[in-house]
Amino acid sequence: MSDPAVALVTGAGSGIGRAIARRLADEYAVVVNDVDAEAATETAVEIEQDGGDATAIEADVADHDAVDDLVDRTLDAYGRIDLLVNNAGIETVYPFTDLPEAEWDRVHDVNLKGQFLLSQRVANEMIDRDVAGDIVNVSSVHDVLPRTEKIHYDTAKAGVLMLTKDMALELAEHGISVNCVAPGAIETPMNAELLDDPDEIERMNERIPWGRMGKPEEIADAVAFLASQDATYVTGSRLCVDGGLSLDP
Ligand code: NAD
Repeated sequence: MSDPAVALVTGAGSGIGRAIARRLADEYAVVVNDVDAEAATETAVEIEQDGGDATAIEADVADHDAVDDLVDRTLDAYGRIDLLVNNAGIETVYPFTDLPEAEWDRVHDVNLKGQFLLSQRVANEMIDRDVAGDIVNVSSVHDVLPRTEKIHYDTAKAGVLMLTKDMALELAEHGISVNCVAPGAIETPMNAELLDDPDEIERMNERIPWGRMGKPEEIADAVAFLASQDATYVTGSRLCVDGGLSLDP
């Protein structure tokens, strides 16, 4: 039997990333990255309890040296990377006029620079090993939809969309596909405050044509599709998974 393909999923200790790692474990050996080591280990243990192959590796995707170490350790363990899912992200709330410069930098470093750093290193490893792999970035409906108090997050996600398209152009000659998934409002710890308040949930549900928030597994299905043999002619695309939220903002 040949070795399984290898997927590296960032921010996979919680929410969407955990669901992606678990979904991919049906077909891939999965490297479960998170800046929170304990959370990453929990996901890896869940995968192994289900009979999958997973390795937890702690790293901050915004730190160049940590990203190199993450990729080195992945290659030491598995010898190749077939799929990179750039999912790690953080979100904070500040009115534009009060947004501290350091907060702008922090959110851009994790949400955008982290995707650049990891994609660049992994793409080079794929090219060196002749792996016609896949990269899937997790963006947000707010990569194109404006709103208040999240200008640092939304501009970083807008950057993710362009990163996806430009990388897709440059990596096409190597057979590496690059796509992004743009989630709407998903039930994860990132939305913990909203999920704790039934009135807020109802207000949100009223805004969504589908009438409910999304589940992390529904984003994981979209990522799995983009990396699958059902999407062999898809690159540079943005797959919006939002129950219609962005149709009538
Ligand atoms: P979450 O907070 O549940 O999980 C994010 C994970 O990323 C956490 O485990 C966290 O420890 C990890 N992380 C944070 N900074 C990191 C870093 N520097 N390096 C490595 N890991 C780091 O959030 P989520 O809702 O699962 O979000 C996952 C992705 O989906 C994010 O990119 C987010 O922007 C995006 N997204 C989420 C929603 C939503 O409604 N939940 C909507 C649109 C987009």
